[in-house]
Amino acid sequence: MAKDNLRGNHITTNKQICRRSFLKKVTALLGGLTFMDWGLFSIKGALASVLGTNKGNNQEKLIFIAIDALHPKYFELDARGLPGGSEGNWLMPNIHAFLKKSLWYRNAKSYLPAATDMNHLNVLAGTSSAQSGIISVWAQPTGWDENGEAIVTRTSMSFARDDKGRPVDTLFHAWKRRWPESKTMLITGKEWVGEMFRGNGSDSSGIDILVTGPNHPDYLKPPLKESLADPHTDIDAACDPESTRLGLFGGSMNPNNVMTRLYTGQGSLLTWQMEHFANHFPHDSWIVDSTLEIFKRDKPDMAYILLAQCDDAGHAIGCAWDPSEFINVNPPYKPPEGCEKKPEYQLVSSRNKLLFKEAILDVIRDIDIQFGRLIAGLQRQGVLDKANVILLSDHSAVNHLYTEDFSSTDCVGLLESAGIIEKPGLLGKKEMYAFSVSSYGVLYWRKNKEKVSEAKAFLLAHRALNPQTGSKECPWWVLDRSDMKNGLEEVCLPGELYHTYYVDADKEQTVIWPDLIILAKNGWQIPVYNGQIPNVGIKAPTWSPPWRVYNGGHGSVDTLPIVAAVSIPAGKTGLHDRPIRIADLGVTAAALSGLKLKSTTIGSDLSKDLI
Ligand SMILES: [Zn+2]
Repeated sequence: MAKDNLRGNHITTNKQICRRSFLKKVTALLGGLTFMDWGLFSIKGALASVLGTNKGNNQEKLIFIAIDALHPKYFELDARGLPGGSEGNWLMPNIHAFLKKSLWYRNAKSYLPAATDMNHLNVLAGTSSAQSGIISVWAQPTGWDENGEAIVTRTSMSFARDDKGRPVDTLFHAWKRRWPESKTMLITGKEWVGEMFRGNGSDSSGIDILVTGPNHPDYLKPPLKESLADPHTDIDAACDPESTRLGLFGGSMNPNNVMTRLYTGQGSLLTWQMEHFANHFPHDSWIVDSTLEIFKRDKPDMAYILLAQCDDAGHAIGCAWDPSEFINVNPPYKPPEGCEKKPEYQLVSSRNKLLFKEAILDVIRDIDIQFGRLIAGLQRQGVLDKANVILLSDHSAVNHLYTEDFSSTDCVGLLESAGIIEKPGLLGKKEMYAFSVSSYGVLYWRKNKEKVSEAKAFLLAHRALNPQTGSKECPWWVLDRSDMKNGLEEVCLPGELYHTYYVDADKEQTVIWPDLIILAKNGWQIPVYNGQIPNVGIKAPTWSPPWRVYNGGHGSVDTLPIVAAVSIPAGKTGLHDRPIRIADLGVTAAALSGLKLKSTTIGSDLSKDLI
């Protein structure tokens, strides 16, 4: 109680100083000006300089709202998910209401790999994987044990290091250094992202209130089960089509496709898990209710709110931001008796005809409704009156190509068949370890590193039949360490995927670094090896055969586009077409809040655009 009172006094004092010094500076500015000067003098500039120098005492709240995997192209669609959305007819009207009050960067990108853990960290630390060392999702290989097995470690701030080997500093750390009495929070629909930020507990995370589905304060209700494609907000749930899966019947069956048949598709094990284990995959509605309750009780000043439903559904039942991808289903879908026969019920993806567009759009509509509830709730509590709010996504997502030709992207199987790596058998020591999912993979050689260049050339010469176009193509880019260092035109920036500290200074003693990185093209999916299903945070046995687990996903170049909009009190609004990166948002947030990050950042400060 005494502490609370102290904190209250502390803030009042700050506010008083703030107002006093503000008035003093304005008086000084005005006093020094003649009327003649007004013509040459920008009032906005004067205010900016006053506000800028005043940052030290001006504790505006800082709120990040991250909608995992949301593609900004959804913002162009109308209520039916078709091109040409307009005022009163948007697929995501609540997001549009927020965009109107913000500066929206339409050409924003994350960094490769375009995946979750590293990009939430990138916005909070102003980094790419080259300044954090986090390159995988959920877990990553960090070394080799005496049996030649890869040591796979949960992704964690405990081993996140910058290019100089320093622990990665986040905005949470910086915030707590500046305002030790002020509360910070992170709430996440992806529990393992929360655990990554928590670290191993030996170093402070800077996060006072860290909330995940399984680990939350008692006053919050537990998450409830809910369908992804037919959420409670879906008004035509009884009529609209459901996507399906291959299941165990139909088509050829072999050991390599059993797992795919069981796991992939709406109604499959993956969707079932996501809908059944609500604790591990809480829907956005739970994150919103919980966030509002926490704000009411604990009044945090800095918050990172991670809404995961868009990503969960993108993996399980697909994505629908590109209307040109969808074609009429054959045979046509027959809605149940008494339902309206809407033409949009007939649309399926040309990449995977099992995916109905309408099932996907219902997810996106729900995400928008929940976002609207979040903003309205925060508004009601007065939180947004004095808050810098950053809306973002960490990457986007695409539908994966459906093919029964399993060998088309089985990079490990292809290298084994060509004799470039040995087939280790069940108990044999692996000379190469593959960690892959969705549209990217990282390959580590334990020995015989001289084979890496042969492997790269072989994989680049590989051709697979694209079932969507009917032609053969190379399904991926393959980057070796020199590509990671020097960059690859149209693919990655110089150094974006190369960690100079871990590779060159530490010599991979703490964390090993990939020898090859594979980035899929055109929606191809790279199978999961060793039972790792990163984005799902669950583990199948390591002896599981490789399989393709997702209907949609991300990781490669085509999923770099992100949502990025910044709203600050009395700040500029509108559209900005300058290309920006996710690290810029973190560096900008630091500048707006007067925070200093202690590890290497690569972002640019965009605050001049805003004031
Ligand atoms: Zn993500």
